Amino acid sequence: MKKELKNRAKTSHELKILQNYEDRKNLFESYLKQYEELSFICASCGYPTINKPASYEVCSICEWEDNGYNDNQLFRFNHATHEPLTLFEYRINIGEQILSEPKTFFDAKNIILSIKEYENKFDIILEKYYSKKTTKKDKSICEQNFQNLKKELFDNLKIRLK
Ligand SMILES: [Zn+2]
Repeated sequence: MKKELKNRAKTSHELKILQNYEDRKNLFESYLKQYEELSFICASCGYPTINKPASYEVCSICEWEDNGYNDNQLFRFNHATHEPLTLFEYRINIGEQILSEPKTFFDAKNIILSIKEYENKFDIILEKYYSKKTTKKDKSICEQNFQNLKKELFDNLKIRLK
C-alpha cells in the first residue's frame, strides 16, 4: 500500500479496510491475468465488475461510477456520481460492508461467474426501467427488483467467500 494512503487512514479499522481492498484487487488482478479474462477491477470495491475502464460504468457491487480515477485521485470528488463522495470515501463505505468476509477462502473464478450472471439480470431490469412503455408503477417495481437483486448478489458473494 502507498505510504500516503496509509497515512490518510484515520483509524486502524480504516487501515484494515484499505488493506482488504488491496488484497481483493491483487487476487482478482492475478486471476484475470492468468485466465485472460476481459474484466477490470473497480477502483472502489476491488471486485472485477468493470467491462470497459473509464467509461462511466456503474459498479454493480458498490455503485461507484468508473470515471477513470485511481489511487492518484483518491481524494478528488467524483462529480459523475449522484453522491458526491471521493473514491477514498467510497472505498471505506463499501469496505465497511464487506469487512466481515473472511478473505482467505477467496474463490475468484466463482465470484467472477456470479458477477457476470448478476450483471445480465441487472441489465434486464434496467432495460425494462428505461423502456418507453414502462409505466410509473412498473418503474417502482423495477426499482424494488433492482434492490432485491443487489441484496441477493451481496449475499451470494458472501457465501462464495466462505
Ligand atoms: Zn465497485
